[in-house]
Parts: sequence; structure tokens; C-alpha cells
Amino acid sequence: MFSQRIDRVRAAMADADVDVVMLSVGPDLPWLIGYEAMALERLTMLVVPAGGPAELIIPAFEVPRVVEQPDVFSIRGWTETENPVALVAERARGARRAAIGDHTWSRFLVALQHELSTTSWIDAGQVVGALRAIKEPGEIERLQAAASGVDRVATALQSGEIELIGRTEAEVSAELGRRILAEGHAVVNFAIVAAGENAASPHHHAGSRVIKPNEVVLCDFGGTTAEPEGEPGYCSDITRCVYTGEPPTEFVEAYAALQDAQALAVNAAVVGASAESVDGVARQRLADAGLDQWFIHRLGHGIGVEAHEDPYLVEGNATPLAAGNAFSIEPGFYMPERWGARIEDIVVATDDGPLALNKVSHNLAVVGN
Ligand code: ZN
Ligand code: ZN
Ligand code: ZN
Repeated sequence: MFSQRIDRVRAAMADADVDVVMLSVGPDLPWLIGYEAMALERLTMLVVPAGGPAELIIPAFEVPRVVEQPDVFSIRGWTETENPVALVAERARGARRAAIGDHTWSRFLVALQHELSTTSWIDAGQVVGALRAIKEPGEIERLQAAASGVDRVATALQSGEIELIGRTEAEVSAELGRRILAEGHAVVNFAIVAAGENAASPHHHAGSRVIKPNEVVLCDFGGTTAEPEGEPGYCSDITRCVYTGEPPTEFVEAYAALQDAQALAVNAAVVGASAESVDGVARQRLADAGLDQWFIHRLGHGIGVEAHEDPYLVEGNATPLAAGNAFSIEPGFYMPERWGARIEDIVVATDDGPLALNKVSHNLAVVGN
């Protein structure tokens, strides 16, 4: 798997006229070799020269954490008194164009730019990100497992198994987190719980607000799956809303339009459709219901080893969807000081049509009666 990915990176480097790729913290490195660099001041960097073998420059005492793959890369541990930037620069000396991971700390990039003063630099997203956006069958299986895990948590939410009324958003968020971990995830990436007027803020931070009867509760949660040592985890991301009592007609009608917009957008996410056209389908349906002014964010984002990655479903992105693209479809409406709602599924574009990985009901569940 990883040696094939290195081959694909080398081919992409040739296409992009790049002489060397350098990857440090962030999702590119675990995707490419299965190792995730510690986000610390000690530099870990994989150097992939176009013409030579790949080498992982890493703090010597972290070498035991690496699952070795001699056919993919070699390891050069650096001791506390060595200069890792010099070790990287040595291996990239003479490169005309370098691609560096977009999560790399600027302190290392600035130091490398000083060492390699004639090299021009691009974001490795242009080389590695484009490959990551097309999922392999094994990656889609892992995304499906991640989605099924959070589907089960959403089912518990919709059935009333997760108590809401009388608890704070933060308490419910913590319970969602525990359940995400129990469903095969190694990490909780976020568990937004937004009650009543707080649901009007798309990225509301769950706080001390106590959930009351007769209000909407928006829950948006996801994590990264647990995988065997040396393999990257994959992300889940789902949003469902429940109502703690009988919802008022105005909300029911708005939610019905939202549900329709979400379903229409999923169906529109076919191979060859532009990313922005899918966003446009949901936006038009909400406009027909007079709600588009409250749909204040893009329709969706790609997902994989990273929770948000290419492709982005947003006006202005005319890139056609390709088979293997995995992304969220998550329209919403947000009315300040009143309420809000969002419905989010992860969808894969396939040659047989859009495949929604989340299968849990989209209906507005009434809980707490
Ligand atoms: Zn978001
Ligand atoms: Zn989400
Ligand atoms: Zn999302």
C-alpha cells in the first residue's frame, strides 16, 4: 500500500515539476507512510527526492515508534545535539522546486528557505493532497466503518437513549465523545451540542447551557478511527438534530425544506458534476423555501485521514467530482437568537452514483416526551 502511494507521489512530482517533497506534521505523512509526526518543536520530516530514496529524519529517541518499511523509506535519527534542518537541507540541496506539507511549522520552513536559498516552494497539497482526495477501496471501507460507528451514536440520540433535558450541552457532548470512542474511534475530533438559540451558531462550543424542553438540539460529532499500529485512521463526521418536545410548525416546515435540500444535493453528487453545482442544488432548494439567506456556509468538505480536506463543495470550485472523492453534504439554516438546524452525511462519488455512508434517519426525532 505505502510503496504504491510513494510511486503515485513520485509520478505527481514529475507532473508538477517538483524535485523534492518534504512532509512533517499533519495528515500527509500518515497517509503516505503510516507514521504521524509528534507536533512538537523537534523536527520530524520525510524527504522524498525525485531521483533518490525517501528518508525519514526523526528524533533518535522516537525511532522505536516507527513501523519500519525498508522498501518505502529509510530512517535517520538525529540526536539532541544535531541540527535536523541541516540534515533535511543536505538531502534537498540543489532542488529547483520543493513541495512542503502545508501543516509544517513556519519555524522549520523559514529555516529551510534560508538554507536552500535558490529553491522555490509550493504547498505539497498540490502534489499529495490531490492524490489523497481520490480514495482507494480500502480507504472507503475505513470511512464506511467510521460512518457506521457514528451512525450508532446518532441512533442512540434519536431514540432518546442519550438524555438531554436538564443536562448541559457540555455533559451531552462528553457522552457523545465516550460513545464515539466505544464505536471504534481512537480520537474524538469534535462533539458540538447546540441547544435552542445556540444552534444558530454553526460551530457552537458546547457549554454550560442547560437543555430545556421544547427546543432544537443540534449535534455534530466525529472522530478518527482506531487502526493497527503503522496505519492511519479515518475520520467520521455527522450532524443530526432532535427536538425536545413537539416542534412548532414553522420549524417543521423549515426542517422539511432542509431535509429535501440535503437529499437533492446527495443525489446531485455524481461523478463529473462540479463541486459548486452540488452546493448550488442545496442552496436553490433552500431559496425556494425562503431560507437561503440563513445558509451561511459552504455545502461540504472532503474527508479522509483529515476531517476537512479537498474537495470543498463551495461556489467558485468548478472542479468536477471524481470517482473516489469522499465529502460531506451538510446544508443548514441558522437564525440568530432563534434556532438553527443542519443535516450532514458523508458521501462518496462512485461510477455507480453517489454512495451515502451515513444511513441513520434524517427525520427530526422528537425526544424527551
Ligand atoms: Zn464545520
Ligand atoms: Zn460535522
Ligand atoms: Zn463536516
